[in-house]
Amino acid sequence: MTSQENTRISEYLAKNEEEALEFLKSIVNTDSFSYDKKGVNNVAAKIMELLESKGISYVIRENEEFGNHIIATIKGPKDGKILLMGHMDTVHPEGTTKERPFTVEGNLLRGPGVSDMKAGLVTMIYAVTALEKFANEDLCDIEILFTPEEEIGSPISRAVIEERAKDALAVFNLEAGRPDGSVVTARKGSAHLKIEIEGKASHSGAFIENGISANDELALKMTKIKELMNNDKGVTVNIGTIKGGVSNNMVSPHAMATVHSGFWKTEDFDELYKGIEKIVNTSYVKGTKSSLSGGVSILPMEYNDGTAQLYKIVQQAAQDMSLPITEQHTKGAADAGFASSMGVPTICAMGPVGGNWHALDEYMELDTFLPRMELLARSILLFSKDIKN
Ligand SMILES: [Zn+2]
Repeated sequence: MTSQENTRISEYLAKNEEEALEFLKSIVNTDSFSYDKKGVNNVAAKIMELLESKGISYVIRENEEFGNHIIATIKGPKDGKILLMGHMDTVHPEGTTKERPFTVEGNLLRGPGVSDMKAGLVTMIYAVTALEKFANEDLCDIEILFTPEEEIGSPISRAVIEERAKDALAVFNLEAGRPDGSVVTARKGSAHLKIEIEGKASHSGAFIENGISANDELALKMTKIKELMNNDKGVTVNIGTIKGGVSNNMVSPHAMATVHSGFWKTEDFDELYKGIEKIVNTSYVKGTKSSLSGGVSILPMEYNDGTAQLYKIVQQAAQDMSLPITEQHTKGAADAGFASSMGVPTICAMGPVGGNWHALDEYMELDTFLPRMELLARSILLFSKDIKN
């Protein structure tokens, strides 16, 4: 049964590749800068039209500032839900598609957002359509979430992603496959902190003993904070900027430093934060007072057992297709992190392979278009077949 389902899915996708490519061209040639609400909604309209033609139902979530969210659903008989995600916006302002429209150069597709991540949007629609047609009795529910403003950090989508991901069994984010074909199973999180220190000014020639040096305190704190960096765990500590003092013959009355940290696991950052907090709350120079502000700005996509299991399924699917696949832990983007921080197994970069994102020479590799559609469909199928009702 399995092999018959897979054969039908693969035949359907191959038969529809031209159509999918035409659709990709039409959305790449539609400007959808994150702040261009109308443009993003133009892409959304095309997506809804395609969903309708495939018989996939959806709801629209409107919002004031940005383009709409679209949530498409297909229902399967098995318990639970798999969430697929993709963003419709690009980093390219209105007018870019006129200057640099979609083109095909041999195996390379070009155009603004072709790889980041309009190809991913097309991939999930066709993969899900094929599953619905040929493997419906083995599926759990599948939900596809299209978001409007990932490229500016998902200010409104974060809550929607968390809402849709919280009861999902697995999440696939359809960002582009890495240039070497890898999918992404972990991403670092990032935090920005600020330390402010108050001391007491005094003439440093005549009355140095009356002063309390915030600069001295900062210097002592800095060396201690730096020691908290943990290379084994991949917790970085960078004291990016410092400021202190007023003039050279005055004991410094205030000082400040900003600290950036990158980390794979939120608990590692929590531990670092506690350490920094302790150092900030200790006065090494008597009489200084210090405060700490800031925190996590991007949640990590954590590597956990669930993600490792999910990756095994993707590996199995790839192996069944004789497709080489590798995983990568990388830095950057946030959306997959929002899902995985809900504790849901999450894999990112399931889309067609590409590179040079956000640059003029962004590309997608055409010969990965079909294989990635099939890989996604097979991974979903393997996963949902395993669900015991
Ligand atoms: Zn992207």
